[in-house]
Amino acid sequence: TNLHIAIVAGSTSSEHDVSLTSATNIYRALKEITPNLYPLYLDKTNQWMLLDATLEAPYQDISRAKPILLQKEDMRLDILSKKQQKIGQIDLFFPALHGKFGEDGAIQGYFELLGISYVGADVTASALAMDKEFTKIILADAGIPVLPHLVINKRDNEYPSFSDACKELSRDILFVKPARAGSSVGISKVQDQMQWEEALTLALLHDDKILIEPALAVREVEIGILDDGEQVHASIAGEIAYEKGFYDYEQKYSAESQVQLHIPALIHETILAEFQQLAIKAHQKLGIKGLSRVDFFLTKDSNEIFLNEINTLPGFTDKSMYPLLWQSMGLSQSHLLKKLIESSLKS
Ligand code: ATP
Ligand code: MG
Ligand code: MG
Ligand code: MG
Repeated sequence: TNLHIAIVAGSTSSEHDVSLTSATNIYRALKEITPNLYPLYLDKTNQWMLLDATLEAPYQDISRAKPILLQKEDMRLDILSKKQQKIGQIDLFFPALHGKFGEDGAIQGYFELLGISYVGADVTASALAMDKEFTKIILADAGIPVLPHLVINKRDNEYPSFSDACKELSRDILFVKPARAGSSVGISKVQDQMQWEEALTLALLHDDKILIEPALAVREVEIGILDDGEQVHASIAGEIAYEKGFYDYEQKYSAESQVQLHIPALIHETILAEFQQLAIKAHQKLGIKGLSRVDFFLTKDSNEIFLNEINTLPGFTDKSMYPLLWQSMGLSQSHLLKKLIESSLKS
């Protein structure tokens, strides 16, 4: 095709850096699809920049990518095209963003206002899936198993003590997480009152609303969803295996990470079928389009299934489960992106 596609990456999100890594891969794969790419960058204060599209990997090193500051009125994308001496309009936005502003409906609302198509979930579905409380309310209503939780709001006059929260959730170890974040940023596993206070403070730095859950001993299994606008396809399952702690930011992205991705996950085929069916149902219940990665827990002691969360813009780094799942099913990254592009132009 010769579609004009603008990739957007960065932003003030706590997942700024992860976004740039995802965008580097997405840019490379999209290059195989169209020569007309616009590497847009939201800097850490959410200022729009246009990067040098002649580079192989503009998102790899922003300072070398000669970012041009865009004025608000430059966001008329016909002007953007002129800046790159290219003719034509932007046909499609590809948000290579994670977390706040990228995955929560904010940028999707902006695309809607511009009247330009974009890849992935719309405003409402993005906002719902980003919010772990609302996700659980909707999924529980649909009969999908989710863990019990408590909500703490920053403006609450009083926060429960660790032992009260434990009693409420019938568990002596808890997880504390920002309601709307990702890449495990701001998440802690808590065993006593002192850790509890630190964990609440940390999570509240990332969101005004936080979720408390019982910490279970679990295997972690993820399913990729590819929704071509007509049919919703579930991938095989992938498992994340690690020795200690939990799947935190370090384990997700550091070079020293000991985490292993098992693709396919070694699970019984009836459990796989259940994961796939639940993943499709959850994707549809939340009204997501295009793609999502559905994260599950499988309890170690009793093989109980819980849907943990849904990511509407899953990571596309080299260690990211979503593209690896599809790759193992014979879909290369550019083939996968091509399908996503087709489905977003359809809707
Ligand atoms: P992502 O990068 O997938 O978007 P996230 O920041 O949205 O992650 P979660 O997936 O909810 O956060 O949690 C991150 C990790 O924390 C999980 O993959 C798991 O390792 C651990 N975890 C979270 N909640 C629980 C729980 N209730 N019991 C056990 N482990 C948990
Ligand atoms: Mg998430
Ligand atoms: Mg995420
Ligand atoms: Mg997760």
